[in-house]
Amino acid sequence: MEKESEKAIERYLKQEMTKIGGLCYKFTSPNRKGVPDRIAIFPPLVQGSPGPVWWIEVKSTGQKLTPLQEVELRNIARVGQLVMVLDRKEGVDMLIKKYQEIKDGILREAQRHPADQIPQEERRIIIPGRK
Ligand SMILES: [Mg+2]
Repeated sequence: MEKESEKAIERYLKQEMTKIGGLCYKFTSPNRKGVPDRIAIFPPLVQGSPGPVWWIEVKSTGQKLTPLQEVELRNIARVGQLVMVLDRKEGVDMLIKKYQEIKDGILREAQRHPADQIPQEERRIIIPGRK
């Protein structure tokens, strides 16, 4: 597999987050090594509710986490946050695709008319507003 640099993956992550209207901030915590590189803030999945936020450690392809990074990522995951390690651009695509799929699914569900839940052969009732 082709090796991708941390910098290139980080740049790509930021670019793809921007494309979907999200934010991708660099994260550092003074005097605290091992914290994740980026906070990816997604637009809301549902209007009026906060979008998902992922704490992301970016590594060059195949590079492992340091023991300190493992500790910090676990700390963040332990309090219920979403944590991810990305070591290739493909992972960025998967993350964004998953977000889009969930969002599309929610929209589709929200747009579904209640009558759609009634099987065709059982639709013997008149539903107001439905042609
Ligand atoms: Mg890193």
